[in-house]
Amino acid sequence: MPCQIVSKLMRRVALLSVLCLPFAACARPVLYYPTPESVPSTSAKAGNAPPKTPAPRTSTTSTAVPSTKTPLLMIGGSSGTSDMEYLRGRQIIVPVAGASMGKVEDTFDEAREGGRVHRAIDILAPRGTPILSADDGRIIRMTTSGLGGIAMYTEDSEGRIVYYYAHMERFRDDMHPGRALAKGDTIGFVGTTGNAPKDTPHLHFQVMRMPADGRYWAGDPINPYPVLVGSDR
Ligand SMILES: [Zn+2]
Repeated sequence: MPCQIVSKLMRRVALLSVLCLPFAACARPVLYYPTPESVPSTSAKAGNAPPKTPAPRTSTTSTAVPSTKTPLLMIGGSSGTSDMEYLRGRQIIVPVAGASMGKVEDTFDEAREGGRVHRAIDILAPRGTPILSADDGRIIRMTTSGLGGIAMYTEDSEGRIVYYYAHMERFRDDMHPGRALAKGDTIGFVGTTGNAPKDTPHLHFQVMRMPADGRYWAGDPINPYPVLVGSDR
């Protein structure tokens, strides 16, 4: 199913299917949540730093099972006011060159096939449009397989937020894990790799809180839509 167009009715499906195992949907780590014991990122910053380089799982297609202890619907509505405020404070930018948030739908809470919830936004753009780093920070990981296709995980300069950019056509040539990024840097180009519909190039953009355990691919998703809309005006 195309990831960008889902009937509003599907939202109801999401409510009923939160326990289903994730499958497909537009790009990867959309349904993984940290365990309730996870320390909020604020305290993660202090003192004993969490492991920054978790043992790599097999690929982006982590098989982590969503925690049923974490009410899914609460996450969608309020993925943490402090997270949202922090993100707002970062003054992140729309990560696709020339894109206007006026044309982007808030699909963060929309259902995806297999009982998944999107937990990301899709920014449609012509194939090859530059993808921009939404924030200052560094590259954590670059992947080329899995549902996200050619995709990149980055973190903000304080290591509190993880950004996930998926379905790229390709990376910019000089990208590599560990590389520092400045807000607005071109990191890649819009495409349809992974499970994106081949006729709908777009950037699947996900924002997550960096978990205290450093499992950057499994952080609690934060909806960037309201933040980006605010920055777009
Ligand atoms: Zn998507």
